[in-house]
Amino acid sequence: MAKLGDWIDPQPHGIHVKPAGVWIDPSRPMPRALVTHGHADHARGGHEAVWATPETLAIMEARYGPQAGHPVAYGEAMLMGEVAVRFVPAGHVLGSAQIALEYRGETIVVSGDYKRRADPTCAPFEPVKCDVFITEATFGLPVFRHPETGDEIDKLTTALHANPDRCVLVGAYALGKAQRVIAELRARGFDDPIYIHGALQRLCDLYIEHGVALGELRPATEASKAELKGRIVIAPPGALNDRWSRRLPDPITAMASGWMRIRQRAVQRGVELPLILSDHADWDELTDTLTEIAPREVWVTHGREEALVHWCMTRQIKARALAL
Ligand SMILES: [Zn+2]
Ligand SMILES: [Zn+2]
Repeated sequence: MAKLGDWIDPQPHGIHVKPAGVWIDPSRPMPRALVTHGHADHARGGHEAVWATPETLAIMEARYGPQAGHPVAYGEAMLMGEVAVRFVPAGHVLGSAQIALEYRGETIVVSGDYKRRADPTCAPFEPVKCDVFITEATFGLPVFRHPETGDEIDKLTTALHANPDRCVLVGAYALGKAQRVIAELRARGFDDPIYIHGALQRLCDLYIEHGVALGELRPATEASKAELKGRIVIAPPGALNDRWSRRLPDPITAMASGWMRIRQRAVQRGVELPLILSDHADWDELTDTLTEIAPREVWVTHGREEALVHWCMTRQIKARALAL
């Protein structure tokens, strides 16, 4: 009998689904690509044909220009050769999808990046029963346990109220994290205008066009120093300590990232207010997901593979690290 899942071939530059003649998240231009989500390590420009959710295609077009795109809605059934393909919400960023593949009675789920906690900016992760579950392991160590989102967000408003003459400058990645910080603030009743760096404008607009309410956003560059006192300003992490931030009134520097769990990283970046806020599953979310899905095999990629493979072994789940 053939080996489980031997019809797909995980390579360093993408996952080749052989009987469908297609690659998942290829890092170089391919004739046919399936793309899980818009982050640059998954979505590249230059493919001859791309299948992705409408949101992911819109993100790719915003970043790379027009795409030869085939929009695929969540749950829509699609046949590629003999392989049934379905995009399922991954809960990671707007439009993010797991890709479920079914071929000759075997189901493989390529999860891309995912998380399990609530996120007002995207559809929640849906577990899919499968034979092989390919999981990321960005935070695949027991030390990574993300705190409650609301508690982290409250740190921003607390700092703001305690320092009415300063502003709070939040470093957040342009795709996903920035919009999530804004939407979480709104969900907790923060109605003041939020000021954004110009590099975030296009993706914030795209989220709004796709129905994610972000409230009143203003361009930070057009505001005076006085206007920015007592305000929240969001910028890409690279702008936190550069010339751009000198326009701001004595900013309290915050950074929203799962890596803020590591104190040293916050110190290195000169972050006064670390917010542990991640779009990736933490250790408990990873292990709970594997328990819930109970696949015959787990293939681990994208991060700290060893600890998660070991965890699977101790629970009699066959697992291996994809050394990509
Ligand atoms: Zn991602
Ligand atoms: Zn990723």
